[in-house]
Amino acid sequence: MTSGDNRLQRAERRALQREDEKYLGLPLNLGPDPRSIAAHVRHVARLFSQPSVESPCAEVMAHLGELYSRTVPKAQVACRRGCASCCTQMVSVTAPEALWVAATIRRRAQSVEKMRAADAQTHGLTMDERLKSHIVCPLLVEDACSIYAARPLGCRGFVSVDLNACLATFVGGAAPNIPMPASYTDILYAVRMLLYAALRIKGLKDAAYELNAAVLAALAVDDPEARWLEGEDIFAGVPVTGGVPPHFDLAISQLAAHVAPTV
Ligand code: SF4
Repeated sequence: MTSGDNRLQRAERRALQREDEKYLGLPLNLGPDPRSIAAHVRHVARLFSQPSVESPCAEVMAHLGELYSRTVPKAQVACRRGCASCCTQMVSVTAPEALWVAATIRRRAQSVEKMRAADAQTHGLTMDERLKSHIVCPLLVEDACSIYAARPLGCRGFVSVDLNACLATFVGGAAPNIPMPASYTDILYAVRMLLYAALRIKGLKDAAYELNAAVLAALAVDDPEARWLEGEDIFAGVPVTGGVPPHFDLAISQLAAHVAPTV
């Protein structure tokens, strides 16, 4: 430790980084041993600060997406390629997710046009209004996600064990009652918690936005990611999609406070 504060010295941080490597390629350990979670928070916080990397946000989200996929059990979910009725819901994204999607479609004129057209219909709708509107995500092409590698965590983590329940809700208009395996939702929450904790450690905004509006805001400016990482609020004016529940918020803050001195 340094004498004036509780931050680790450079050599101690390097040693910890080497120790962290043991956990980064493994599934997330949600048991009582906190080292796996702390290692991933440190890693994600470090990824946000890589000056030489073209898109730190893409690296962060790719890491977390792979971590989620590696950790969920290979349970029998009903989700299959070509089954996309759920891609009519409002998708909530953090800034790094929106920035990665924007970078992915920036040079795809047709995708950008479709996103503008969809936003004209969806802007300002509540989650419930959006569900009832049945407006299809503009990124869905031939019943497949056209940004599959960069799809948001919420899309990755939305799974169901009952196709009929999905069809009843997303096609038939019934009240949502989608049976999701608890193991999947627990892991999705844990991965989101890592992201939020790392954002807080780096002093980056952790708001969540509606996907279409957030992506268009990122596409509207040059160098959106660099500007956002430098603290410019390029998403000002984009509707936020609800805050973090208080108990979750407290857990994220405690995790960030625990890990911050070691980054
Ligand atoms: S981003 Fe991809 S997975 Fe998510 S709603 Fe749109 S098409 Fe579906």
